[in-house]
Parts: sequence; C-alpha cells; structure tokens
Amino acid sequence: MTGTPLTHIQATLEDPRLQAAIYKASGRLMDHRRHAIDPEELPDFQELRTQANLLKRHTIENLDHYLEMFQAQVEAHGGQVLWASDGQQVADFVLELARRKQARLIVKSKSMTTEEIDLRDRLEPQGLETVETDLGEYILQLAGERPYHIVAPALHKTREDVGEIFSRRLGVPLENEPEKQTKIARAVLREKFLAADIGMSGANFLVADSGAVVLVENEGNARMSTTAPRILVAVAGIEKLIPRAQDLAVFLKLLGRSATGQALTVYTSFLSGPRRETEIDGPEEFYVILLDNGRSKLLADPEKRQSLFCIRCGACLSHCPVYRKIGGHSYPWVYSGPIGAVITPQFQGIQAAGWLPFASSLCGACGEVCPVKIELPQLLLELRAEIQKARARHSENRWEKLAFRAWAWVMRHPRIYEMLGMMAGAVLPGASPGDWRERLPRWAARGPLGAWISQRDLPPLPERSFRRVWRERLRAGKS
Ligand code: SF4
Repeated sequence: MTGTPLTHIQATLEDPRLQAAIYKASGRLMDHRRHAIDPEELPDFQELRTQANLLKRHTIENLDHYLEMFQAQVEAHGGQVLWASDGQQVADFVLELARRKQARLIVKSKSMTTEEIDLRDRLEPQGLETVETDLGEYILQLAGERPYHIVAPALHKTREDVGEIFSRRLGVPLENEPEKQTKIARAVLREKFLAADIGMSGANFLVADSGAVVLVENEGNARMSTTAPRILVAVAGIEKLIPRAQDLAVFLKLLGRSATGQALTVYTSFLSGPRRETEIDGPEEFYVILLDNGRSKLLADPEKRQSLFCIRCGACLSHCPVYRKIGGHSYPWVYSGPIGAVITPQFQGIQAAGWLPFASSLCGACGEVCPVKIELPQLLLELRAEIQKARARHSENRWEKLAFRAWAWVMRHPRIYEMLGMMAGAVLPGASPGDWRERLPRWAARGPLGAWISQRDLPPLPERSFRRVWRERLRAGKS
C-alpha cells in the first residue's frame, strides 16, 4: 500500500470499478454464508457459536498449559517447536535453516500470520525465492500487493485485472477466462512445488492433545506445499491453539460456513510430525514456529483478550458496511475490517492506528456474524474510550483542548460571540460548502487545525444573523 489511509479511502470511493468489485465479491460471500447457516441446514448454529466461544475462552485463559502440551506432542512425533517473539526471529530461523540445507526455493501456502510479519519481504532480499501458491495470493504476489480480505485475498481483482497481471508478469497471452487463468498459474506453480526445498504454511488450528497443525483450504496447494518439499515450517500465532482434536467438530463446522459458505472446505489436512517409516510422502523435517508478535500483551487484559479468539473467517469483513465501501487496502495493516480495527491499534499502538476504532458505524453486524462471538462493537467502543483518554493526556491534543476552552469562554461572553460572528460573516460571506476553506488565511489552513478543517464542510452562512433578524423584528414591533 502506498499513500495515507485517507488517500486510499478517497481513491477507493471514487473508483466505480473497484466499488463494484468489492460489493459483488463480498455480497457473494454474505449470500453463501446465509444459505450455509440456514436453520434447516444447521439447526444448532447458535449453540455451536456459544461452544466455540467457551472453548476459545478456556484455551486463551489456559494458554501456557496448552502450549506446553502442544510442544510435548509435536516433539513426541519427531518435530520441533520454536518460539518467536517477532517476525525477525521467524525470518532468522528460516534463513539459517535455508543456509544449512542449501535451500533456494520456498513454496508457501496462504497464511495471514506470515503476511503479518512480512515474511516474504524478509526472505527474498536474502536470495531465498519464496512463492505464494494460493491462487489469490499468487496473483497478489505478482501484482506486488498485500491481501485485500482475510479469506479472499484478491477479492478486489476482476478477471480482466488478473489477465493483465499474468500477461505482464508471466509473459503469457492475455487471457480473461478464470479456468484458463487457473491453468496458467497451475503450470507455473507445479514446477515450483517439484523444485522447492522448503514448504511453509500457517495454521488454522493447533491441536494441543495431538500436536497436529490443521490446515483448511480449497485448492490443494497447502497440501502440496506441506508434503512435497522435504522440509516443512509452519508459522502460527500462539492463539491458534485448541485443546482437543474433538473440538474441531465445533470449529470446522463454523469456519467454512462463516468464511465461504461451505459446510466443509475441500481439503482439511492434519500435519503431525515428519514422515514416518511407513508413510510414502510428507516432509523429512517438521518445524512449528509459535509466534507471539504482541499477542501476549493482549492476554493481560481480561476483556480485550477475546480478540485472540478470532479464527480468521473474514465474515466480519464481508458484512461490514465500512469495509465494503473503503476496501481492504485502506486499512493500515494486513488485518482489515472490524477485526483489523480492533487488533491493529492493540498490536501497533494508537499512534499508528488510533483512528481505526472510530471508522465504524457501530451497526453491530460484525458481532452478529462472528462465529466465535467476539464482541466486536463492544471492543470498538472500549478502544475509543481508551484512545480518547490517551489523546487527552498526549500533547497532540493540546490544540484541540485549547480550542474548546477558548470556545467555552466565547460562549460565556455574548458580545464577543456576536463580534466573532460578524467577523466570520466578513471572511466567509455566503460561502458555499466546499469553498470556505479557500477563504481562510493560509496560516489557519496549514496550522495545527489544518487536518481538522480539511475534512469538514461548512453550511453556507446566512446573509443576516439570527441576532440581527431578532433585533430588526423588535424594532419593527414584531415578536
Ligand atoms: S473476528 Fe470473528 S468474524 Fe471476524 S474474522 Fe475473526 S472469527 Fe471471523
């Protein structure tokens, strides 16, 4: 993403082609979900949500216990668990591993966690080719963009866009048929799968009692990425834990339906350790990197820790009227929509993303669709209150506070209020909306209030103020 969020938002709103693409794709996801959770299809949907919420709450409250259990199980199956506090530690491990194994090529399945730490950008400059194998992610890698949506990364791309990207980046003839485009990508990626030294994945779930990394997907690329290369590295946030394999009965029923409206995704893979002697495929070496990257900070807050329940289904994005207008690239981090508005300020600090919780209509749709019942609107409100308090303490708010104090003083002195009103009438006579800023002195438009002023319209000022009309009527003997 380039430019400020504001320029992205404006550009998105002014692009009818992009608006149509976002509305169409997110609308389709909403329709599919609605059908998939129809009470005739799934009568216990609401009970499943409650169960999922309780399971996640229990796991997050006992995370240390389940992390240790998971590690013991992975090691018992011959794998290794690494702990990373940030993206640099993940990259350092992968680079060192690649150096030791003389690896040159990594194939990667879709993973928001590795997007979160910009892993590809950390590996490729070191000479380690890293290829996304999910079709949407591959399109975006070629386009040089980050994901637009958690489950539909290239949601904003039309078939014409994809044809142009393939033609420009792969040197193939322009092709606008999705089936033919898929064949083009498959031909390129098949060679990569066969030549790759290391396979990388994220994790939809980490099962503590069996040490399994669970991946759900529709294209088969995650299965290829995790079984074809001789080394597998899975990178997962520590919140991906669930206690038992049987809990998947709850989460898998919710995830596919909430994400894409599928009862179950096409592939569900359970990876637990390197290839056994009796097995014909699978990696020889198996590593799971457990990433913190700010998560343990959230654990400390009993209310906000529920942000860690998220199973990255993307339903809150697709149903959010703000996301559907401003699109995924208007958000400052890889997580967009309501969950992005909740976790980005918590992970990255309010200086970087304090405006996000305010970018919500609080319509409540996100909270209603969340399969793990995260109270997203409530969290947005709590964050707003916190951010306002912090801003009040911070010097950045000094000008606003001064302005309101001055305003309060003026309001208590009617003559001065009237005089200022007359002066405003002289500076902005009959100003129409939009052009009043041009009449302000340059210092006012560029000063500390500049950003505030730039985003506000002023209704045209009446030719005669209320006070003047009132006095004229009194003089004329009317009341
Ligand atoms: S917050 Fe809930 S709805 Fe949004 S992505 Fe996470 S699990 Fe899905």
